[in-house]
Amino acid sequence: MGAAPDRASAAAKILAKPSDYKVCEGCGSIVLKKALLCPNCHAYRFDESTPLVKKQAEILGSREAASVTKDDYN
Ligand SMILES: [Zn+2]
Repeated sequence: MGAAPDRASAAAKILAKPSDYKVCEGCGSIVLKKALLCPNCHAYRFDESTPLVKKQAEILGSREAASVTKDDYN
């Protein structure tokens, strides 16, 4: 446990308020709506649709679940 709690809590935070976020069209990262550039790839095109933000946040959360499964496998 505690491998990457940030990821899961970040996903939960985004899902609680998806309207505060948008998705980078360059790399798929979720960034705050007030951000002008993507901090990852410096793209400036974003998709602000709430369903997409939720979907991306769920993917973000499930990556953590995948790493837990891997630990279990060991
Ligand atoms: Zn990006």
